[in-house]
Amino acid sequence: MTGLVIVGHGTRSAAGVEQFAALVERVRRRGDLGDVEGGFIELSRPPLTDAVGALVARGHRALVALPLVLTGAGHGKGDIPAAMAREQQRHPGLTYRYGRPLGPHPLLHDVLEQRIDAALTGASSAGTDRAGTGLSGADAGTGLSGADRAGTWVALIGRGSTDPDANAEVAKVARLLWEGRGYAGVEPGFISLAQPSVPAVLERLRRLGARRIVVAPYFLFAGVLPDRIVAQSAEFAAAHPDLDVRVADVIGDCDALADLVVERYAEALGGDIRMNCDTCAYRVLMPGFADKVGRPQRPHDHPDDPVGHHHHHGHDHHGHGSVAVVGGGPGPDDLITVRGQALLDAADVVVVDRLAPQGLLAGLRPDVLVVDAAKVPRGPSMAQEAINAALVSHAKAGRRVVRLKGGDPYVFGRGHEEVQACVSAGVPVTVVPGVSSALAAPALAGVPVTHRGVAHDVTVVSGHLPPGHPDSLVDWSALARARGTVVLLMAVDTIAKIASVLIEHGRAPQTPVLAVQDAGLPAQRSVPARLDEIGAVAAREGIRPPAVFVVGPVVALPTTGPTV
Ligand code: SAH
Repeated sequence: MTGLVIVGHGTRSAAGVEQFAALVERVRRRGDLGDVEGGFIELSRPPLTDAVGALVARGHRALVALPLVLTGAGHGKGDIPAAMAREQQRHPGLTYRYGRPLGPHPLLHDVLEQRIDAALTGASSAGTDRAGTGLSGADAGTGLSGADRAGTWVALIGRGSTDPDANAEVAKVARLLWEGRGYAGVEPGFISLAQPSVPAVLERLRRLGARRIVVAPYFLFAGVLPDRIVAQSAEFAAAHPDLDVRVADVIGDCDALADLVVERYAEALGGDIRMNCDTCAYRVLMPGFADKVGRPQRPHDHPDDPVGHHHHHGHDHHGHGSVAVVGGGPGPDDLITVRGQALLDAADVVVVDRLAPQGLLAGLRPDVLVVDAAKVPRGPSMAQEAINAALVSHAKAGRRVVRLKGGDPYVFGRGHEEVQACVSAGVPVTVVPGVSSALAAPALAGVPVTHRGVAHDVTVVSGHLPPGHPDSLVDWSALARARGTVVLLMAVDTIAKIASVLIEHGRAPQTPVLAVQDAGLPAQRSVPARLDEIGAVAAREGIRPPAVFVVGPVVALPTTGPTV
């Protein structure tokens, strides 16, 4: 069973640490989740590294990491994934699936309702001795009934964030808490970083005519900030003795919270870890937040991105896996298409070829599973069948799979076999064209494959099977009669034979040829030769794959040199 590490951000409050530990113990006692540990990324003990270390020591190599946060802000989007990335460096081979923030969720709204009611009746709820604190003259503890909700306004106080999307989540919870529960109204406020502040929201409620207000902290556990909510509410109450102001308890360690942890664990395991990114300031231009768009959330891109995470809805099959066969371009990591990059950002699993741009892997979220296609375990089946099977099974497990290939998936890439395998398995599949090395390698070496008045045709040919091979489908003699450009791929081993067959069938021996190796990469080099010499020259110069050979008069055009 996949181990669970519950990750908190840490607090200076001893009571908060105790409540966190009690919740971890409560989840563990349920016994239906396998191994459970909890740890903090800062301030409190035990540190996350001890929690992960304990799970690894007990043999776990794949974990669910659940950020114990109510909304998706900096901790959940940046700090906790960064801490997990450090754990992965510490424990090579460790993988984890990342759970989404706890709220909004009906279980939490029910708990908030109980905490508010406890404050109204004056009854003490579990956890702290502060529950249901009456802060001013009103007669707390006289057993206010549900009917009194109609005379009660609620100020729901969130932590506050520089991320408007996180603040909007608190506003959403306020609305959800109001709907159907009979309170006079529920207004959101924030203890830090966002407006309205606690005094501002209380003043707003007073002007709306509120006589009785329950301040409900939208916080999991005790801490410095919930204490500050109590203090600011008390100050406001002291200044307004005509008002009945009470502060509800935090959510705290309770069964409902444990139930929610179990639910988020199951979602993460199923790969269902999307969150709303339509209003993410890192992704969408919002008034006043232009500085955030396109900027990575430290230390990697928006981990909750749709499909995030980041959620590229066009390809998002909401809980169902999918496969995108993506052409990555010839090698450098900036020759992939925008669409391909977006799908890569959204992927849960990336199955990558050796010739695909390896630099792109560094930009993946830390929890993305990267599968080296060359190493896909294959029993008795062929490598391609094993890759097809891996694509299908990851997608069927609900994951967003990107099959990242070099160049274009349909140019000698077996991309269509993978598409066919997905289609037969009923897995949604899409193909994203890429920049093929067949056209890009000549271009990057300064050679246009066509040029007005010089070459009006270009033929892309696989040199994998030499002329005369029984399985060859190429009409080499027809190719020899063509006058334009021929681009040969996979021909390093066969170039001498191909050149002589082309000459034998009529192509001029002095036709210029350019070998282009490692196009677009720092190691790029090109070697020119005549057609009748290219075999010997390529061998002497040690031309190695990946390389293309460009044959034809375009090679002799004056150029400004390689355009790397
Ligand atoms: N689908 C790929 C081609 C796959 S076949 C595409 O569209 O580019 C592999 C062949 O592609 C190699 O043998 C080589 O001929 C060519 N190739 C791929 N990347 C290359 C690069 N960076 N430089 C030169 N040739 C490359």
